[in-house]
Amino acid sequence: MLYNNLSGYLKEKYGKRVRKICIDGGFTCPNRDGKIGTGGCIYCSERGSGEHIKAGTSIRAQVMAALSMATEDDRFIAYFQNYTNTYAEPHVLRERYDAALIDERIKVLAIGTRPDCINEEVASLIASYRERVDVWVELGLQTASDATAKIINRGYDSSVYLEAVRVLKKYGIPVVTHIMIGLPNEGESELRETVKILNDADPWGIKIHSVYVAEGTTLAKMYRDGSYTPIDMETYIERAAYVLTHINPNAVIHRLTGDCPRELLVAPSWNTEKNAVISGIVKKMESMGAAQGKYYRV
Ligand code: SF4
Repeated sequence: MLYNNLSGYLKEKYGKRVRKICIDGGFTCPNRDGKIGTGGCIYCSERGSGEHIKAGTSIRAQVMAALSMATEDDRFIAYFQNYTNTYAEPHVLRERYDAALIDERIKVLAIGTRPDCINEEVASLIASYRERVDVWVELGLQTASDATAKIINRGYDSSVYLEAVRVLKKYGIPVVTHIMIGLPNEGESELRETVKILNDADPWGIKIHSVYVAEGTTLAKMYRDGSYTPIDMETYIERAAYVLTHINPNAVIHRLTGDCPRELLVAPSWNTEKNAVISGIVKKMESMGAAQGKYYRV
């Protein structure tokens, strides 16, 4: 295998395929509710990711619905996906995480959040779940460039990400970092900086997203007024191969594409060709004679 993918990791660890239950935990986001900002990140859709999850359903009902179609032999990850899933008082967080962990077949609690919503109290609470299940926290970094962070209205500097990783690691919590390829004004030099911060932080896992333009976002307005042009598929493949070959060979790769629901996708059209993108990345790495981490330097 040219890179360590998540499904291989899970199969080795649990002896079988492990599936995700994507959960809308009923949170909001400080970059939307006015605490930090109101507009949100420019690519963020109305549902704060997880658009396919039925809105307004309780956490327990969402988990029960997924389990109702499962066999006794299945294993699951409870993945809190929409918005910022550490943005509440610790007792509220506990209540909501507990509402998801209702079956022995759920082996992992995965929590997606912003680095500026991690602190010692939150990390300590999340670490306490390690007695029951495996745990990881997913941090949306997207880019190391603070100039790009302003353009995308991320709402925090990259140093905040490094501090969040430090706190989570202190509590023994594996971190998964999300990065995006194809952000406005980003080229190879910004990508090199992003790889550098990844290698400095050394997260356990990495999610690589291709930027897509979803209906209803600020990015859709920028696309329509000509101030944003998505990169083409070939460029994406080259840049994703660059990232894979320059990061820690042990990092677990959770994702290699962006995944916009078809009905919301404005551009680029190649976003729907997930298999072609992944096989393009593999072919590119084969042509380079390089597996994950070949050019990794600490
Ligand atoms: S941090 Fe996440 S939920 Fe909040 S605005 Fe940005 S993408 Fe949306």
